[in-house]
Amino acid sequence: AERAAEIRALIRDVPDYPHPPVVFRDITPLLADGPALGDVVEAFAGLVDADGGVDVVAGMEARGFLLGAPLATRLGVGFLPLRKAGKLPPPVERVSYDLEYGSAAIELRTGTLEAGARVLLVDDVLATGGTARAAAELVERSGGQVVALAFLLELAGLGGRDRLTGRAVEALLRVE
Ligand code: IMP
Repeated sequence: AERAAEIRALIRDVPDYPHPPVVFRDITPLLADGPALGDVVEAFAGLVDADGGVDVVAGMEARGFLLGAPLATRLGVGFLPLRKAGKLPPPVERVSYDLEYGSAAIELRTGTLEAGARVLLVDDVLATGGTARAAAELVERSGGQVVALAFLLELAGLGGRDRLTGRAVEALLRVE
């Protein structure tokens, strides 16, 4: 618990960014701290045994890449980048989702996932859950099974878990 507080202190809260009243959670100080980054990856790895093993780690662009790739290496499995629309050459699967203003889409190259592959989804922050929900849908549409969704930090007040009902949702840290 003490270590969790130290790691929490390495996430910088930036008021009114990108606009009021949002408090942006900046994980770059944590990424820059070797022991803290190592402990976060270990903590994520500890969730996997509880969830029954994974075949591949998938991460949401872009900060999900930064946590998901070292986790994949630690687990001895591959890593799958779920990309923002328009970055991957065709053919791709695409899932669109709503944002506060407008919409966004994420993509995965068709045929990247083996049928039935057990996928662990990773991202830095769970906010409204829209991104994670789209990511889970993308993996399933591509033939994978979502074993769990794991986040470094859950912003509990934004109701992300409610948009992911029926799924295993894990967060290493939580704020209201
Ligand atoms: P959601 O779709 O509203 O749950 O937002 C989650 C997505 O937006 C994740 O991919 C996060 O990386 C990003 N995000 C939302 N809020 C923050 C934040 O405060 N800090 C860093 N990333 C954030």
